[in-house]
Amino acid sequence: MKKYLDKLKKNNLKITSKRVAILELLERSGEALSPEDIRNELAAKFEKVSYPSVYKNLEDMSRIGVLAKIARPDRRLYYALCRAREDKHHHHIICSKCGKVGEVEECDLFRRKVINGYRITSHFLQLEGICSDCGK
Ligand SMILES: [Zn+2]
Ligand SMILES: [Zn+2]
Ligand SMILES: [Zn+2]
Repeated sequence: MKKYLDKLKKNNLKITSKRVAILELLERSGEALSPEDIRNELAAKFEKVSYPSVYKNLEDMSRIGVLAKIARPDRRLYYALCRAREDKHHHHIICSKCGKVGEVEECDLFRRKVINGYRITSHFLQLEGICSDCGK
């Protein structure tokens, strides 16, 4: 947990009890959760939890790379804890059965500067698979 809180501090995001609660929830679950799920979990702990404030916290923490945004087939956005060991370009993989999110720390796409005549400036990639627990 400390490394996530350090990263908040480094990026001038205050360590609030709600942010800590969101991080703890995502760490415990290991899965990508929807903003609704997260709001409902927090509502059990805090008196006032508005949806916009939860959403803003999720967005702020994903902007600085503490959380990962995960797209699911229902086209909604989910959030998961980013457990990458270092701050370097990487991607996420989600288990299509249980929703568990993992890190994919190797990516060769940046080695190619031009693809089909396009000079590449960025890319988004999300992998999907079956995790080792679900594949047993
Ligand atoms: Zn990550
Ligand atoms: Zn799984
Ligand atoms: Zn990449």
